[in-house]
Amino acid sequence: MERKDLAFQPIPGMTTPRFAGMPTFMRLPHLDIDSAQASKADIGIIGVPFDGGTSNRPGARHGPRQLRDLSTMIRTTHPRSGINPFELVNCADLGDAPVNPMDIMQSLELITDFYDQMLRKDIVPLTAGGDHLISFPILRALGRQAPVGMIHFDAHTDMNDAYFGDSKYTHGTPFRRAIEQGFLDPKRTIQIGIRGVKYDKTDFDWALAQGVRIVEIEELFERGVQSVMQEAREIVGHQTTYVSFDIDSIDPSFAPGTGTPEIGGLTTFQAQQMVRALDGLNLIGADLVEVSPPFDPSGGTAWVGVSIMFELLCVLATAQSTRSAASQE
Ligand code: MN
Ligand code: MN
Repeated sequence: MERKDLAFQPIPGMTTPRFAGMPTFMRLPHLDIDSAQASKADIGIIGVPFDGGTSNRPGARHGPRQLRDLSTMIRTTHPRSGINPFELVNCADLGDAPVNPMDIMQSLELITDFYDQMLRKDIVPLTAGGDHLISFPILRALGRQAPVGMIHFDAHTDMNDAYFGDSKYTHGTPFRRAIEQGFLDPKRTIQIGIRGVKYDKTDFDWALAQGVRIVEIEELFERGVQSVMQEAREIVGHQTTYVSFDIDSIDPSFAPGTGTPEIGGLTTFQAQQMVRALDGLNLIGADLVEVSPPFDPSGGTAWVGVSIMFELLCVLATAQSTRSAASQE
């Protein structure tokens, strides 16, 4: 296959020190979504600086900026697979989606519009949140034609119905709304790493009744990462699949900078192994959410976050280059 021009390369760390210059995601070119250049992008890395869905401890609105900063530490070549995603596809920093911190519903519209623009240009989104509500407007764009499957790493199912009476759009409800509105296929959805004190013993009932597979942390540690990920691959199959990674799936000893930490979580290495096991799936987008810099100003949590984002970028790049090779045959 004739490889198209890989116009967008990270600034090399051996020529310009990685602490120098203006921080963009992975040191990639920053492109305006409306520009002609953006049409050449295969994968867009985007920030969604919104935490208006947070029910308790806020701060994830500051995530994209700190994640951009720490992402300049990332090099280019995967240590295990040898994949350099920037040699497979064109990746670019497409900036931040527009939001209105004073208006949840308007923000959800603005975010969906932004992702619709990307999809019209055939750009696969890799998103840095923001709180977990931002996955809803993304799924609304990606799942508009047909519901997508999802592999979801989190301490929480985020399948609650409503908060504080009748508030339906919070970071504890995005996947219930996405299933109800037909953007997410519950029978092709698996949630991994679930734990923490519940509101009630019926917390999981609605999701289980829809056919969602919930893997609680005890089962994960008993069976092991590879066994659970094999099951995850079988559940989503070859159809289009989204990956949502809540940083609180990782143990707070590694990632304390998040609003709703839960002890007894994944190690960073287990998290890497889990994302690596997504290789070869038909992935159409991914997000890394709930990094809240005010709870970890050192940037340690954001470093964990961008390291997972690089793992996600590698499996997305493989999926996107496989699709484009197939479409050109
Ligand atoms: Mn979550
Ligand atoms: Mn969570």
